[in-house]
Amino acid sequence: MTAKRALRPRQGILDIAPYVPGKSALAGGGPAIKLSSNETPFGPSPRAVEAYLAAAKTLSRYPDGSARSLREAIAKLYGLDPARIVCGAGSDELLNLLATAYLGPGDEAIYSRHGFLVYRIVILARGATPVVAPEKDLTADVDEILARATPATRMVYLANPNNPTGTYLTFDEVKRLRAGLPDDVLLVLDAAYAEYVRANDYESGIELVATTSNTVMTRTFSKIYGLASLRIGWAYCPDAVADALNRIRGPFNVSGPAIATGVASLEDRAHMQRAADHNEIWRGRMTEDLAALGLAITPSAANFLLVHFPRANGHSAVDADTFLQSRRIILRRVEEYGFADALRMTIGTEDENLAVLDALKSFMGASGAKRL
Ligand SMILES: *Cc1c(COP(=O)(O)O)cnc(C)c1O
Repeated sequence: MTAKRALRPRQGILDIAPYVPGKSALAGGGPAIKLSSNETPFGPSPRAVEAYLAAAKTLSRYPDGSARSLREAIAKLYGLDPARIVCGAGSDELLNLLATAYLGPGDEAIYSRHGFLVYRIVILARGATPVVAPEKDLTADVDEILARATPATRMVYLANPNNPTGTYLTFDEVKRLRAGLPDDVLLVLDAAYAEYVRANDYESGIELVATTSNTVMTRTFSKIYGLASLRIGWAYCPDAVADALNRIRGPFNVSGPAIATGVASLEDRAHMQRAADHNEIWRGRMTEDLAALGLAITPSAANFLLVHFPRANGHSAVDADTFLQSRRIILRRVEEYGFADALRMTIGTEDENLAVLDALKSFMGASGAKRL
């Protein structure tokens, strides 16, 4: 027998705290109001569901490995070059592939303090070093990010708007970030919630990808298109980045049903518009009504709200979570994002939103009003 040598994952892997998804069920089973994963209350377009069912007839065939029909549909909608679009099994896969292509041990990658936690995971998975930039007003801060760029920096991941804060950087700020970073640093703009943003000073990233050689934008069908379970994302890339991703992705990384369903869901603009309009109304209304209960709400550009609870005895975020669950309402705990005193609430249907308001009114109740 040879000397004992322990099997060990490579550098960085055991530093990764596993991603904890939003809770999806409650003890005892039964129906619950699930507002924990930023899914749309409208579900997918009926046309998308039809396309999915029709795709069941061809399950024995490998899909088109380049997802060409989906890339062409996306390109047509946004006026892009389909050759520069790469599709993936959710944008998570693309965030991962970008790290695989551009990061290794000794390299640094920057994300912001309350940024989406998948960035930390994919950076560590490549043996690279995550560098965390402080935020200002729970918003990514361009100067803090730029101050952390070193010769070892290879990538910056920015969710815009960010999850779980819902805050965003204006296009001017994103341009200033790009201009301040060295040319050999890849800027990844994760625009998972772009369809929900109504601010005039926002741009998802398409323009910056078109005008620079070192910026990538990622998008997803998981949020406003209501296809989270199907796993479809896409990246709009400079030619050289698309080339790198196409060399390392799985040859059939997007399934046939996903391609067909993605195409059909893009065609139903009215369905998407309804979801965006509903969100706009309820995001505003919930922000006001929750604030009226004495809760602090971070202004959100997306389809969720970060709700901050007082630390006072009996009214912490953990207490609120327990109370809400007793009413069969599931919000998202966000301790691992650095928010021990907050819960994240996805905007739901009118009934769901009103149920949350009603529950939190009782929770904050008599003692809440006095205490605050
Ligand atoms: C939900 C989300 C995604 C989307 O992930 P998919 O893998 O496409 O489902 C990406 N980025 C952020 C910031 C998100 O919140």
